[in-house]
Amino acid sequence: MRRVRDRAVRPVSLPGVGALVNEPAYAELVKEHGRPRVVEAIRAQIAHERQNGGDESSRREAIEARLRADVAPRLRRVINASGVILHTNLGRAPLSKTAVDALAVAAGYSNLELDLESGKRGERATLVSGLLTALFGSASALVVNNNAAAVLLALTALCKGKEVIVSRGQLVEIGGAFRMPDVMRLSGARMVEVGTTNRTRAADYEEAITPKTAALLRVHTSNFRVTGFTESASLSELAEIARRHGVLLLDDLGSGAGEPIGDEPTVAESIAHCDVVTFSGDKLLGGPQAGIVLGRNEPVRKMSRHALARAVRIDKLTLAALEATLRQRLTGHAQEIPVERMLRASVDDVRRRAAMWSVKLAERGVETELVEGSSAVGGGSLPEHALPTVLLAIRGPASKLATALRVGEPPVIARIETDRCCLDARTVLRGEDETLLDAVEAAASSLRR
Ligand SMILES: *Cc1c(COP(=O)(O)O)cnc(C)c1O
Repeated sequence: MRRVRDRAVRPVSLPGVGALVNEPAYAELVKEHGRPRVVEAIRAQIAHERQNGGDESSRREAIEARLRADVAPRLRRVINASGVILHTNLGRAPLSKTAVDALAVAAGYSNLELDLESGKRGERATLVSGLLTALFGSASALVVNNNAAAVLLALTALCKGKEVIVSRGQLVEIGGAFRMPDVMRLSGARMVEVGTTNRTRAADYEEAITPKTAALLRVHTSNFRVTGFTESASLSELAEIARRHGVLLLDDLGSGAGEPIGDEPTVAESIAHCDVVTFSGDKLLGGPQAGIVLGRNEPVRKMSRHALARAVRIDKLTLAALEATLRQRLTGHAQEIPVERMLRASVDDVRRRAAMWSVKLAERGVETELVEGSSAVGGGSLPEHALPTVLLAIRGPASKLATALRVGEPPVIARIETDRCCLDARTVLRGEDETLLDAVEAAASSLRR
């Protein structure tokens, strides 16, 4: 009777999970992956077979595949042929070889917090603060986890319980929920908005100053531009007002351009006028994720001694990569930093590389053509600054090609433009050419099949 009822419930007779896991065929999987995970994988496979049908002979294999897929590396190298240099989804700035080598040093034991001469405890931040002050010419420097943390730390350590004046035109949201009003609230500083979305004058800041004011805050509108009938106060005007009233001038610079590029404000200009300047390590600097704080001695020291500094401190691997990147910039080797090289590559450099690819792909039966286009800085920097480039358009269905490239090995991130699947050589790292060509050939031939 019982068996009949069972059959009515299960159209194909499926074994119980408990029985299967004890079968000799599964003993090895249990040994490798642990019983709970094998039980879970069996349960998932049986459920799958109940829905879709299945073959008993391939069951064990399917279960093993499930177990392997669960622990397969998710973070994979991809080739960025999108033409977006600081691609947020692809990890912003790719590190230089020197910076990558430095990661290995920090991975073992290192003198991270040990002064080798005196044998006394040192401070990790001092490993890079000297490089930063030398490179940017500020009195003091501090590094933290990222720029969001740097801004939060500055507001908390210097402005908590007091007022901070900011223009309504600069209440930015940076991707991933960094909203200036929220950061301000979190810090315990009271935000005082002045001006309008498109126009804020120096006098607006000055009129808002009260005895409770701790600082004026300038936020760089990294990822958007307001055009038309606009006005904003210059840093020198704000510095003048801040000095006159004895309040601080803070600058959330965002990208941190060392050299002039597009309409991006430079670090030097900010340091000349502000008490504290913050920006990201993995935007135009071309280093790892980090928050760079530059400024006058007293406010920077106050920030470094605040309890929050410990919570947002920089990790040792990051510090090593940052140190290497800064050293390269300081010693005239900036061209070895990938972001720098990509930004400075001329359209002829890109054209030569794309033309070489085109010839090699033709030999492998993949038809392409060169088209004029533009690369982007990305990463919430310079939204209107397009770098002229030459794209390699692959003949064939654009969307299918882009998908085939993305799911290939290694994944290649292309860009679809005017209905064509395009590769931008500007953002493809040195030494990746042959791998890229193999991947393109494989993707193109997978569509022919
Ligand atoms: C990018 C950016 C941030 C956030 O920096 P992270 O390093 O990503 O934390 C904050 N403010 C401005 C103006 C930015 O451009």
